[in-house]
Order: sequence, then C-alpha cells, then structure tokens
Amino acid sequence: MSINCPNCSSVTLKASQIEPQLISQQCPQCEGHWIRLAHYIDWVKSQTIEQAVVEEIDVEVEPNMTTPLICPKTQEPLIPFSVTSDIKHQLHWGQTSKSFWLDKGEWQQMQEKRVADKLTDVFSTERQSQLAPLQQQLNREHLIINAIGKENYSRLKLVRTWLHEQSDEHKALMVSFLVSKDPFKMK
Ligand SMILES: [Zn+2]
Repeated sequence: MSINCPNCSSVTLKASQIEPQLISQQCPQCEGHWIRLAHYIDWVKSQTIEQAVVEEIDVEVEPNMTTPLICPKTQEPLIPFSVTSDIKHQLHWGQTSKSFWLDKGEWQQMQEKRVADKLTDVFSTERQSQLAPLQQQLNREHLIINAIGKENYSRLKLVRTWLHEQSDEHKALMVSFLVSKDPFKMK
C-alpha cells in the first residue's frame, strides 16, 4: 500500500534504501525517509558497533512542536525526539506504526557522528511505555488544531498561559468577561 510523505502530504513515498541493508521509503520531493523499526533493528544487528564520536548521547522527547508531523499510516501525530551528540539530530516516531521519519540529511549526520546505530535506546520498550500520555496529549492537541486552525490555537495557548498567571479571583472575573455576551451588565 502506498503511503504519503508526512512533510508533503500529497506526495507518495517511494521504495528506497537509506543504507545498502536498510530499506526505507523516501519522499521524492523533500527527500526524507520513513523507516520501519523492525528493519532498523535488523540493520543494527548486522553492524559492527563503533564508538560514537562523542561519548555522551542524550535522548529526549520534544513535545513543543508547533506543528507535529502526522503519521502517514495511522494519521496520529508523530512524537518528536531529539538525539543529541554534539549536535542535535531529530527524528519523528510513530508509536502505533512502529516506524520513524527522518528529514533529509539527518541520517548522514547521524552516520558522521556514529550515532545512527545507537537509536535502539529511543525505541526501547521501557521508553515506549512511557509515551502513552504524551501521545494522548498530542492527539488531543491535533484534534483542537484541526477544529479551530493553527493560528487560533496559538492565540488560544497564549491567552491560556496569561490567564493562568492571574490570581484565582481575577481569573474568574476575566473568564466571565471573556465568555459573557454582555460583560457590562450587572447581575
Ligand atoms: Zn516529502
């Protein structure tokens, strides 16, 4: 079944290989790669593991994306991860489809820093089980954005942050002012 690019939604991914023994699906337009975890793990097993150029490799979820990419298989938002060696590598993980997306050039950079074969930590069962609440949050956010639009959503977030900085008393007054049809009418 053909699937579309998470970046350029109307472009169909084409069968490709990101490495001689690692098959992927590549977008002919933005040149990103979609890789199945099972294929990646097979590839890692076939590699002689070399030391990363930098000893410290840090993996973290970066949930504060303005626009998360959407999984081309499940239509759920992908979870953005950053893998830091001495530079930041980004990947987007499909929790349900067990696949990940790499923008153009990410893999080459990971190869140069010898981080490419060290992503198993990102995909460890332990880490995956911690991601359920985040996936729920992203899904919910995605629904709201779809309903009201990106621009409205980013304004709404600003208002929300500002509102929650106020005292409870002021907050109540402000909320009723915001939602009331006639805020100057005394009860
Ligand atoms: Zn694309």
